[in-house]
Amino acid sequence: MDRERLKYLVSLHSEKHLLVSLYLPLEKGELGEAKLPIRLKNLINEALEAKESWTPEQIHSVEEDLARIERLVAEERVLGSKSIVAFASSPLGLWEVFRPPVRVEKSLAIDHAPRVVPFIALAGQLERYCTVLIDKSRTRIFFLDLGGVEERYDIYGAVPGRHDQGGWAQARYQRHHDDRVMHHLKHTADELLRLRHEEGLQRLLVAGTEELVSQFTDYLHPYLKKCLVATLPLEMAASPKEVQEQALAVAEDLNEREEADLIQKLKGEALSGNLGVIGLEDTLHTWQAGQVLTLLINEDFHAPGRHCSRCGSLTVREGSCPYCGQRLEPLRDVVEELIKRAFLGNTEIKFIAGENKEALAEMGNIGALLRFTA
Ligand SMILES: [Zn+2]
Repeated sequence: MDRERLKYLVSLHSEKHLLVSLYLPLEKGELGEAKLPIRLKNLINEALEAKESWTPEQIHSVEEDLARIERLVAEERVLGSKSIVAFASSPLGLWEVFRPPVRVEKSLAIDHAPRVVPFIALAGQLERYCTVLIDKSRTRIFFLDLGGVEERYDIYGAVPGRHDQGGWAQARYQRHHDDRVMHHLKHTADELLRLRHEEGLQRLLVAGTEELVSQFTDYLHPYLKKCLVATLPLEMAASPKEVQEQALAVAEDLNEREEADLIQKLKGEALSGNLGVIGLEDTLHTWQAGQVLTLLINEDFHAPGRHCSRCGSLTVREGSCPYCGQRLEPLRDVVEELIKRAFLGNTEIKFIAGENKEALAEMGNIGALLRFTA
């Protein structure tokens, strides 16, 4: 799942056609796997309540898309994925299916644009984690993203076995052996540097013996040393599932700590009137002025607002546009619109979940760290 594909989804909008967006956890949850088709049916029935306002063509295409989704979910139960996310619109030729390795909140939306905000939040949670299993002669490299964990590289170094000869011969073999191990570690470090450029590797996790990991770390480029966030207790023969579980646990922990730090930083900056603002109105205003470096938003925060059809501004004010004077038009969820624009503009967005939510709620559920003050 690359960022460009995600951007395409985020920018999709059709006046004429409807799009179906599904988020469905597949795990044996509180209701049990057997109830999955019923759960989906309930979601569908709720979403179909809006049917009366649709054209016959729209009803036809939505029914087609929903039937395809029902078939997908029936098949998916067998595969044992954790969650499924699907975007469908037959008249637009859209059919995108993702199997994120984490549990999603269930929802089904039928609208003129796909429901992408939960997806953007998921993408942020799983920022290109790379796990490296390393021993003296082999490296396995795994990437974690929205599609789950994927083993991407398997590197074999040419390391000769140890020989049982004594004396000089043994010493020579030993030196040769050590050279080859060093070469293998160096080669792996070089490959990772290449991957950092090509694939946007952001976080690095390494598994191996303590001695080897410490040797390996010495070969890492300073950029990559900064990316190294944890060492994991994994064997070379670990399954992708084991790699995924451990990488996810680290990611969750790390995200939570980072979010707590960011909220503290935001609070300090906002209170001192420096590089931070809190609350929806000020956040929207600094966004318009191009000052925003990082947005912090409670994951379930929504608020109605307005937008200007002339200059495109977003606001919570009423009446005319504070920037150009045009009459404002209502927007069902101004937070959603802000998130989409921020994502398309490559602004960093942190969705706050769990225990950190309370601290941000006290600041109005939203805030921004700024590049510069006005
Ligand atoms: Zn305007």
